[in-house]
Amino acid sequence: MSEELKPCPFCGNEEPYIDGFGGFVKCGTCKSSTQTKAISVQGEGQVESLLPRKEAIKAWNTRAKPTFTKEDVEKAEHHIYCELLSWFGNDRNFDEDMAKDLAKAALNAIGKIEE
Ligand SMILES: [Zn+2]
Repeated sequence: MSEELKPCPFCGNEEPYIDGFGGFVKCGTCKSSTQTKAISVQGEGQVESLLPRKEAIKAWNTRAKPTFTKEDVEKAEHHIYCELLSWFGNDRNFDEDMAKDLAKAALNAIGKIEE
């Protein structure tokens, strides 16, 4: 894995690459990328240019975290509850609140939950 680039947030590919021209970072697996052009205003016009390599890397490594909807949270809670059931069966030392707490902790670790 490239030391300076984090893995792709969408597919987990650990080898995203900096485009040959140095202006953007791309995932060869799912084709997601940072923006390919920086637009700046010069005089009365707009100028498109490639991002400097360093900024493209920063943009890739600081992508917005995913936002989870209430529905996503409920799905996660349900899956965790079912998983707990399969682990512990009728020996129910857990309840739905525990599944809710675990789901929220996991989702908050990788993104944020919609208010
Ligand atoms: Zn990817």
